[in-house]
Amino acid sequence: MVPPQRVQTMLNVAAAAHVTPNMIRVTLQGPDLAGLPASVAGGHCKLMIPEPGQSRSAFAQQCANGPKPITRTYTVRHARPERQEIDIDFVAHGDDGPASAWAARAIPGDFIGFAGPGAPKLTVFDADFYLIAADISALPVAAAVLEALPREAKGIAIFEVTSAEDRQEIDAPPGVSQHWLVHPDPHEASRSQIEMVEAMPWPEGRVRTMIAGETSVIRSLRLFLRQDQGLDRRDVYASGYWRIGLAEDEHQKVKRELDAADEARLAGGLT
Ligand SMILES: Cc1cc2nc3c(=O)[nH]c(=O)nc-3n(C[C@H](O)[C@H](O)[C@H](O)COP(=O)(O)OP(=O)(O)OC[C@H]3O[C@@H](n4cnc5c(N)ncnc54)[C@H](O)[C@@H]3O)c2cc1C
Repeated sequence: MVPPQRVQTMLNVAAAAHVTPNMIRVTLQGPDLAGLPASVAGGHCKLMIPEPGQSRSAFAQQCANGPKPITRTYTVRHARPERQEIDIDFVAHGDDGPASAWAARAIPGDFIGFAGPGAPKLTVFDADFYLIAADISALPVAAAVLEALPREAKGIAIFEVTSAEDRQEIDAPPGVSQHWLVHPDPHEASRSQIEMVEAMPWPEGRVRTMIAGETSVIRSLRLFLRQDQGLDRRDVYASGYWRIGLAEDEHQKVKRELDAADEARLAGGLT
């Protein structure tokens, strides 16, 4: 697949509204988005968050000359190049996170820095069965993957959301069953996804996965898929998107160390 054209630019808020109680959709607009194809949905991007009350010119200057603004990773949920727009769905997890706090207050005319997008997470559709698992932070990427799958695809999609009202309608292939779990306190680790995956009858043939969410859940799932089910590393996308108690920069550091330790363990090295 040809990698998407990347842009680094300032975008304007065109609209912001809750899609469900714990998810805010912010529509961002800017002329640089005209060249992005709709197929970039599901690719990640970096968002540079302005300080509360910061002027556009002061923020533009900071982006150009430093210090580096607070930067967070999100997913392009939809791209509409003809309108020069993208949608980003933010989990509304409170004011302790600058990105969550920014989204909760975003109104048309606000601005944010954007860099990306990266490539969509699943682009090879040759599997006999797709296993999709996501908490609410990975609902945007999981939904984009499900919408991009061939209509004849078979699989299972497991979502873990904060309330029953956070369920969304997703245009998944009819052969992919959807299961919605509710975990009301995201700051408490959950075992529901791993229990469901461990209990499911294991499918025949080649299995590809797209799994993302809180890091401790993802590590358990990855070890089960690679170690117990023997899935090939290349068929397993399993990525920690955030970690209980850690802001993103700290989480990224810890994640690199944990991922390396897990790979060593899987290779039969360190335990
Ligand atoms: C590739 C990728 C794609 C992502 N796509 C999305 C997306 O589309 N939508 C989305 O909402 N998130 C997405 N995330 C996760 C997002 O980057 C993190 O949740 C990020 O920490 C949010 O930044 P923040 O400033 O709100 O909070 P931070 O300042 O990073 O964290 C502050 C506190 O909030 C807690 N926290 C962070 N995220 C959550 C959460 N989801 N629920 C509860 N508590 C939390 C942290 O543990 C910390 O204690 C993605 C992550 C990656 C790596």
